[in-house]
Amino acid sequence: MGKIFDWKTNIKEKELNEVISVLNEGGLVVFPTETVYGIGANALDENASKKIYEAKGRPSDNPLIVHVSDKKMIYDLTENISLVEQKLIDAFMPGPFTLILKKKSKIPSSVSAGLNTVGIRMPSNKIAHTIIEKLGKPIAAPSANVSGRPSGTNIEDIKYELLDRVSIMIDGGDTDIGLESTVVKVEDDIPVILRPGKISKEDIEKVVKEARVDKNVFEEPKENAVVESPGMKHKHYAPKTRCILVNYEDKKKQLEEINKMIENKNACVIGFKEHKPFINTNKFINIGKIDNLNEISKNIFSSLRKADNMNCDLIVIEGTKKEGIGLAIMNRLIRACNYDVKE
Ligand code: AMP
Ligand code: MG
Repeated sequence: MGKIFDWKTNIKEKELNEVISVLNEGGLVVFPTETVYGIGANALDENASKKIYEAKGRPSDNPLIVHVSDKKMIYDLTENISLVEQKLIDAFMPGPFTLILKKKSKIPSSVSAGLNTVGIRMPSNKIAHTIIEKLGKPIAAPSANVSGRPSGTNIEDIKYELLDRVSIMIDGGDTDIGLESTVVKVEDDIPVILRPGKISKEDIEKVVKEARVDKNVFEEPKENAVVESPGMKHKHYAPKTRCILVNYEDKKKQLEEINKMIENKNACVIGFKEHKPFINTNKFINIGKIDNLNEISKNIFSSLRKADNMNCDLIVIEGTKKEGIGLAIMNRLIRACNYDVKE
Protein backbone atom coordinates (compact mmCIF):
# COMPACT_ATOMS: atom_id res chain seq x y z
CA MET A 1 0.00 0.00 0.00
CA GLY A 2 1.41 3.35 -1.02
CA LYS A 3 1.54 6.60 0.94
CA ILE A 4 0.00 9.93 0.03
CA PHE A 5 2.13 13.07 0.43
CA ASP A 6 0.24 16.36 0.62
CA TRP A 7 2.24 18.99 -1.29
CA LYS A 8 -0.72 21.22 -2.19
CA THR A 9 0.80 24.22 -0.47
CA ASN A 10 4.51 23.38 -0.57
CA ILE A 11 7.09 20.73 -1.41
CA LYS A 12 8.23 18.97 1.77
CA GLU A 13 12.00 18.48 1.79
CA LYS A 14 12.09 15.23 3.81
CA GLU A 15 9.35 13.64 1.72
CA LEU A 16 11.14 14.77 -1.46
CA ASN A 17 14.18 12.76 -0.35
CA GLU A 18 11.93 9.72 0.08
CA VAL A 19 10.48 10.23 -3.42
CA ILE A 20 13.99 10.34 -4.88
CA SER A 21 15.01 7.16 -3.01
CA VAL A 22 11.94 5.30 -4.28
CA LEU A 23 12.71 6.34 -7.87
CA ASN A 24 16.40 5.44 -7.50
CA GLU A 25 15.39 2.01 -6.21
CA GLY A 26 13.19 1.37 -9.25
CA GLY A 27 9.83 2.16 -7.61
CA LEU A 28 6.77 4.04 -8.88
CA VAL A 29 5.58 7.51 -7.84
CA VAL A 30 2.39 9.31 -8.90
CA PHE A 31 3.04 13.04 -9.31
CA PRO A 32 1.18 16.09 -10.65
CA THR A 33 2.05 17.92 -13.87
CA GLU A 34 0.32 20.91 -15.48
CA THR A 35 -1.60 18.54 -17.81
CA VAL A 36 -2.69 15.45 -15.83
CA TYR A 37 -1.12 13.34 -13.06
CA GLY A 38 1.62 10.97 -14.17
CA ILE A 39 2.73 7.57 -12.89
CA GLY A 40 6.50 7.81 -13.02
CA ALA A 41 9.61 5.66 -12.91
CA ASN A 42 13.30 6.17 -13.67
CA ALA A 43 13.27 6.25 -17.50
CA LEU A 44 16.75 4.74 -17.74
CA ASP A 45 15.83 1.67 -15.68
CA GLU A 46 14.31 -1.01 -17.88
CA ASN A 47 12.70 -2.93 -14.99
CA ALA A 48 11.31 0.17 -13.33
CA SER A 49 9.53 1.26 -16.49
CA LYS A 50 8.17 -2.23 -17.04
CA LYS A 51 6.44 -1.85 -13.67
CA ILE A 52 4.48 1.10 -15.07
CA TYR A 53 2.90 -1.14 -17.71
CA GLU A 54 1.98 -3.67 -15.01
CA ALA A 55 0.54 -1.06 -12.63
CA LYS A 56 -1.63 0.47 -15.37
CA GLY A 57 -2.46 -2.72 -17.23
CA ARG A 58 -1.10 -0.84 -20.25
CA PRO A 59 -0.54 -2.71 -23.53
CA SER A 60 3.22 -3.05 -24.07
CA ASP A 61 3.03 -1.55 -27.58
CA ASN A 62 1.96 1.86 -26.21
CA PRO A 63 5.12 3.92 -25.58
CA LEU A 64 5.75 6.10 -22.53
CA ILE A 65 6.58 9.81 -22.59
CA VAL A 66 9.96 10.68 -21.06
CA HIS A 67 9.93 13.77 -18.82
CA VAL A 68 13.01 15.97 -18.51
CA SER A 69 13.90 19.05 -16.45
CA ASP A 70 16.15 20.89 -18.94
CA LYS A 71 17.30 20.97 -22.57
CA LYS A 72 20.61 19.29 -21.79
CA MET A 73 18.69 16.14 -20.87
CA ILE A 74 16.95 16.24 -24.28
CA TYR A 75 20.28 16.34 -26.14
CA ASP A 76 21.57 13.57 -23.90
CA LEU A 77 18.66 11.22 -24.73
CA THR A 78 18.01 11.95 -28.42
CA GLU A 79 19.88 12.59 -31.67
CA ASN A 80 19.59 14.34 -35.05
CA ILE A 81 17.41 17.22 -33.84
CA SER A 82 16.40 19.26 -36.90
CA LEU A 83 16.00 23.03 -37.12
CA VAL A 84 12.20 22.78 -37.03
CA GLU A 85 12.34 20.48 -34.00
CA GLN A 86 14.71 22.87 -32.25
CA LYS A 87 12.29 25.75 -32.90
CA LEU A 88 9.45 23.76 -31.33
CA ILE A 89 11.59 22.90 -28.30
CA ASP A 90 12.51 26.56 -27.83
CA ALA A 91 8.92 27.75 -28.24
CA PHE A 92 6.98 25.19 -26.19
CA MET A 93 9.29 23.66 -23.59
CA PRO A 94 8.76 23.74 -20.67
CA GLY A 95 5.02 23.28 -21.18
CA PRO A 96 2.21 20.91 -22.21
CA PHE A 97 4.02 19.74 -25.33
CA THR A 98 5.61 16.39 -26.29
CA LEU A 99 7.97 16.04 -29.22
CA ILE A 100 8.75 12.66 -30.80
CA LEU A 101 12.50 12.48 -31.46
CA LYS A 102 15.01 9.84 -32.53
CA LYS A 103 16.15 8.10 -29.36
CA LYS A 104 19.63 7.10 -28.23
CA SER A 105 20.11 3.51 -27.09
CA LYS A 106 20.30 4.50 -23.40
CA ILE A 107 16.49 4.72 -23.43
CA PRO A 108 15.34 1.14 -22.87
CA SER A 109 13.11 -0.32 -25.53
CA SER A 110 10.42 -1.05 -22.92
CA VAL A 111 10.00 2.74 -22.56
CA SER A 112 9.69 3.36 -26.31
CA ALA A 113 7.65 0.19 -26.89
CA GLY A 114 10.29 -1.03 -29.32
CA LEU A 115 10.20 2.12 -31.49
CA ASN A 116 13.40 3.95 -32.44
CA THR A 117 11.76 7.21 -31.33
CA VAL A 118 10.84 8.62 -27.94
CA GLY A 119 8.32 11.23 -26.83
CA ILE A 120 10.05 13.95 -24.79
CA ARG A 121 8.27 16.44 -22.52
CA MET A 122 9.52 19.11 -20.12
CA PRO A 123 6.78 19.84 -17.56
CA SER A 124 6.43 23.36 -16.21
CA ASN A 125 4.69 22.19 -13.03
CA LYS A 126 6.93 22.99 -10.07
CA ILE A 127 6.56 19.64 -8.31
CA ALA A 128 7.28 17.64 -11.48
CA HIS A 129 10.23 19.86 -12.36
CA THR A 130 11.73 19.66 -8.87
CA ILE A 131 11.54 15.85 -8.73
CA ILE A 132 13.20 15.36 -12.13
CA GLU A 133 15.89 17.94 -11.40
CA LYS A 134 16.70 16.46 -8.00
CA LEU A 135 16.71 12.89 -9.39
CA GLY A 136 19.05 14.09 -12.14
CA LYS A 137 17.53 11.53 -14.50
CA PRO A 138 14.54 11.52 -16.85
CA ILE A 139 11.22 10.10 -15.64
CA ALA A 140 9.06 7.91 -17.88
CA ALA A 141 5.43 8.66 -17.12
CA PRO A 142 2.10 7.96 -18.77
CA SER A 143 -1.12 9.39 -17.36
CA ALA A 144 -2.04 8.17 -13.88
CA ASN A 145 -5.03 5.91 -14.43
CA VAL A 146 -5.74 2.27 -15.11
CA SER A 147 -5.34 1.76 -18.87
CA GLY A 148 -8.46 2.72 -20.84
CA ARG A 149 -9.97 4.83 -18.03
CA PRO A 150 -10.12 8.65 -17.83
CA SER A 151 -6.79 10.26 -16.86
CA GLY A 152 -6.30 11.46 -13.29
CA THR A 153 -6.54 15.21 -12.71
CA ASN A 154 -6.68 15.04 -8.90
CA ILE A 155 -5.58 12.46 -6.29
CA GLU A 156 -9.08 11.77 -4.95
CA ASP A 157 -10.21 10.41 -8.35
CA ILE A 158 -7.33 7.95 -8.75
CA LYS A 159 -6.25 6.89 -5.27
CA TYR A 160 -8.64 3.93 -5.18
CA GLU A 161 -7.32 2.50 -8.45
CA LEU A 162 -3.61 3.22 -7.96
CA LEU A 163 -2.64 3.48 -4.27
CA ASP A 164 -1.96 -0.23 -3.86
CA ARG A 165 0.08 -0.32 -7.09
CA VAL A 166 2.63 2.45 -6.37
CA SER A 167 4.92 3.48 -3.47
CA ILE A 168 3.97 7.17 -3.22
CA MET A 169 1.21 9.43 -4.57
CA ILE A 170 1.92 13.16 -4.38
CA ASP A 171 -1.12 15.39 -3.99
CA GLY A 172 -0.50 18.72 -5.74
CA GLY A 173 -4.20 19.66 -6.03
CA ASP A 174 -6.17 19.90 -9.27
CA THR A 175 -4.06 20.02 -12.44
CA ASP A 176 -4.19 23.32 -14.36
CA ILE A 177 -4.98 22.09 -17.85
CA GLY A 178 -6.71 18.76 -17.29
CA LEU A 179 -5.87 17.24 -20.69
CA GLU A 180 -2.69 15.45 -21.72
CA SER A 181 0.07 17.18 -23.68
CA THR A 182 0.00 17.91 -27.40
CA VAL A 183 2.07 15.16 -29.07
CA VAL A 184 3.91 16.25 -32.23
CA LYS A 185 6.14 14.44 -34.69
CA VAL A 186 7.97 16.40 -37.38
CA GLU A 187 7.74 14.79 -40.83
CA ASP A 188 9.52 16.38 -43.84
CA ASP A 189 9.94 19.51 -41.75
CA ILE A 190 6.19 19.76 -41.03
CA PRO A 191 4.93 19.30 -37.46
CA VAL A 192 2.14 16.70 -37.37
CA ILE A 193 -0.13 16.66 -34.31
CA LEU A 194 -0.60 13.03 -33.27
CA ARG A 195 -2.57 13.95 -30.17
CA PRO A 196 -4.08 17.44 -29.72
CA GLY A 197 -3.67 19.33 -26.43
CA LYS A 198 -3.48 22.83 -24.99
CA ILE A 199 -0.75 23.86 -27.46
CA SER A 200 -2.92 24.15 -30.56
CA LYS A 201 -2.26 23.90 -34.30
CA GLU A 202 -2.68 27.69 -34.37
CA ASP A 203 0.01 28.09 -31.67
CA ILE A 204 2.41 25.87 -33.62
CA GLU A 205 1.77 27.79 -36.84
CA LYS A 206 3.01 30.95 -35.15
CA VAL A 207 6.41 29.26 -34.86
CA VAL A 208 6.62 27.32 -38.14
CA LYS A 209 4.50 28.22 -41.13
CA GLU A 210 2.49 25.03 -41.47
CA ALA A 211 1.30 22.28 -39.15
CA ARG A 212 -0.97 19.30 -39.76
CA VAL A 213 -3.35 17.24 -37.67
CA ASP A 214 -3.01 13.48 -38.09
CA LYS A 215 -6.16 11.90 -39.50
CA ASN A 216 -6.37 9.47 -36.56
CA VAL A 217 -7.18 12.38 -34.25
CA PHE A 218 -10.83 12.03 -35.28
CA GLU A 219 -11.09 8.90 -37.40
CA GLU A 220 -11.66 5.56 -35.84
CA PRO A 221 -8.61 3.41 -36.68
CA LYS A 222 -9.40 0.28 -38.68
CA GLU A 223 -8.68 -2.99 -36.97
CA ASN A 224 -4.99 -3.93 -37.37
CA ALA A 225 -4.24 -0.51 -38.84
CA VAL A 226 -0.67 0.69 -38.50
CA VAL A 227 -0.87 4.05 -36.71
CA GLU A 228 1.94 6.48 -36.04
CA SER A 229 1.30 6.72 -32.33
CA PRO A 230 0.49 3.29 -30.92
CA GLY A 231 -1.68 4.83 -28.20
CA MET A 232 -4.22 5.75 -30.85
CA LYS A 233 -5.46 2.25 -31.40
CA HIS A 234 -6.25 1.36 -27.81
CA LYS A 235 -9.43 2.06 -25.89
CA HIS A 236 -9.07 5.39 -24.12
CA TYR A 237 -10.51 7.78 -21.54
CA ALA A 238 -13.67 5.70 -21.19
CA PRO A 239 -16.17 5.50 -18.33
CA LYS A 240 -17.70 2.06 -17.75
CA THR A 241 -21.17 3.38 -18.59
CA ARG A 242 -22.16 3.80 -22.25
CA CYS A 243 -21.59 7.41 -23.44
CA ILE A 244 -22.95 9.40 -26.39
CA LEU A 245 -21.46 12.68 -27.56
CA VAL A 246 -23.88 15.26 -29.00
CA ASN A 247 -22.39 18.10 -30.99
CA TYR A 248 -24.43 20.55 -33.07
CA GLU A 249 -23.31 23.95 -34.20
CA ASP A 250 -26.56 25.37 -32.90
CA LYS A 251 -26.22 24.83 -29.15
CA LYS A 252 -29.95 25.46 -28.57
CA LYS A 253 -30.75 22.60 -30.92
CA GLN A 254 -28.13 20.51 -29.14
CA LEU A 255 -29.95 21.07 -25.86
CA GLU A 256 -33.32 20.13 -27.38
CA GLU A 257 -31.87 16.95 -28.86
CA ILE A 258 -30.37 15.96 -25.52
CA ASN A 259 -33.64 16.57 -23.71
CA LYS A 260 -35.36 14.26 -26.21
CA MET A 261 -32.66 11.60 -25.87
CA ILE A 262 -32.82 11.38 -22.10
CA GLU A 263 -36.60 11.44 -21.74
CA ASN A 264 -37.78 8.43 -19.72
CA LYS A 265 -34.23 7.16 -19.39
CA ASN A 266 -31.98 6.78 -16.39
CA ALA A 267 -29.47 9.09 -18.03
CA CYS A 268 -26.86 11.45 -16.77
CA VAL A 269 -25.80 14.60 -18.64
CA ILE A 270 -22.35 16.19 -18.71
CA GLY A 271 -23.23 19.63 -19.98
CA PHE A 272 -22.71 23.37 -20.06
CA LYS A 273 -23.48 25.55 -17.07
CA GLU A 274 -25.97 27.61 -19.11
CA HIS A 275 -28.03 24.51 -19.90
CA LYS A 276 -28.55 23.33 -16.36
CA PRO A 277 -32.01 24.74 -15.56
CA PHE A 278 -33.52 23.21 -18.72
CA ILE A 279 -32.13 19.72 -18.65
CA ASN A 280 -34.70 17.17 -17.72
CA THR A 281 -32.65 15.26 -15.13
CA ASN A 282 -31.21 15.79 -11.69
CA LYS A 283 -28.17 13.83 -12.83
CA PHE A 284 -26.44 16.83 -14.31
CA ILE A 285 -22.70 17.51 -14.18
CA ASN A 286 -21.58 21.02 -15.01
CA ILE A 287 -18.47 21.03 -17.22
CA GLY A 288 -18.23 24.81 -17.43
CA LYS A 289 -19.52 27.70 -19.51
CA ILE A 290 -20.17 27.09 -23.23
CA ASP A 291 -17.39 29.38 -24.40
CA ASN A 292 -14.85 28.73 -21.68
CA LEU A 293 -12.85 25.92 -23.28
CA ASN A 294 -10.11 26.13 -20.64
CA GLU A 295 -12.64 25.54 -17.89
CA ILE A 296 -14.18 22.64 -19.84
CA SER A 297 -10.79 20.99 -20.45
CA LYS A 298 -10.02 21.21 -16.76
CA ASN A 299 -13.26 19.46 -15.79
CA ILE A 300 -13.62 16.83 -18.46
CA PHE A 301 -11.92 13.78 -16.91
CA SER A 302 -13.27 14.33 -13.38
CA SER A 303 -16.76 14.76 -14.91
CA LEU A 304 -16.48 11.43 -16.73
CA ARG A 305 -15.53 9.76 -13.48
CA LYS A 306 -18.34 11.49 -11.54
CA ALA A 307 -20.90 10.44 -14.15
CA ASP A 308 -19.70 6.86 -13.90
CA ASN A 309 -20.41 6.91 -10.16
CA MET A 310 -24.01 8.08 -10.61
CA ASN A 311 -25.31 4.64 -11.56
CA CYS A 312 -27.09 5.61 -14.74
CA ASP A 313 -27.56 3.54 -17.91
CA LEU A 314 -26.41 6.25 -20.28
CA ILE A 315 -24.12 9.28 -20.15
CA VAL A 316 -24.87 12.06 -22.66
CA ILE A 317 -22.10 14.60 -23.18
CA GLU A 318 -22.29 18.02 -24.82
CA GLY A 319 -19.68 18.70 -27.53
CA THR A 320 -17.71 21.91 -28.10
CA LYS A 321 -16.27 23.62 -31.16
CA LYS A 322 -13.07 22.03 -32.49
CA GLU A 323 -10.95 25.17 -32.23
CA GLY A 324 -7.84 25.73 -30.12
CA ILE A 325 -8.00 23.41 -27.12
CA GLY A 326 -11.53 22.44 -28.28
CA LEU A 327 -9.87 20.07 -30.76
CA ALA A 328 -8.24 18.24 -27.84
CA ILE A 329 -11.47 18.20 -25.81
CA MET A 330 -13.39 16.66 -28.71
CA ASN A 331 -10.60 14.17 -29.45
CA ARG A 332 -10.86 12.84 -25.86
CA LEU A 333 -14.67 12.88 -25.77
CA ILE A 334 -15.02 11.02 -29.06
CA ARG A 335 -12.85 8.23 -27.67
CA ALA A 336 -14.61 8.27 -24.28
CA CYS A 337 -17.82 7.66 -26.29
CA ASN A 338 -16.18 4.96 -28.39
CA TYR A 339 -16.90 7.03 -31.56
CA ASP A 340 -20.65 7.20 -30.83
CA VAL A 341 -21.27 10.81 -31.92
CA LYS A 342 -24.47 12.62 -32.97
CA GLU A 343 -23.68 15.74 -34.99
P1 AMP B 1 -0.04 8.82 -21.90
O1 AMP B 1 0.86 7.67 -21.69
O2 AMP B 1 -1.44 8.53 -21.47
O3 AMP B 1 0.51 10.06 -21.30
O4 AMP B 1 -0.03 9.03 -23.46
C1 AMP B 1 1.18 9.08 -24.17
C2 AMP B 1 0.87 9.25 -25.64
O5 AMP B 1 2.04 9.59 -26.37
C3 AMP B 1 0.32 7.99 -26.24
O6 AMP B 1 -0.71 8.31 -27.14
C4 AMP B 1 1.53 7.42 -26.96
O7 AMP B 1 1.19 6.56 -27.99
C5 AMP B 1 2.22 8.69 -27.45
N1 AMP B 1 3.67 8.45 -27.67
C6 AMP B 1 4.61 8.31 -26.75
N2 AMP B 1 5.82 8.05 -27.31
C7 AMP B 1 5.61 7.98 -28.64
C8 AMP B 1 6.45 7.70 -29.78
N3 AMP B 1 7.74 7.44 -29.67
N4 AMP B 1 5.88 7.73 -30.99
C9 AMP B 1 4.58 8.00 -31.12
N5 AMP B 1 3.73 8.26 -30.10
C10 AMP B 1 4.23 8.25 -28.87
MG1 MG C 1 -3.17 8.04 -20.88
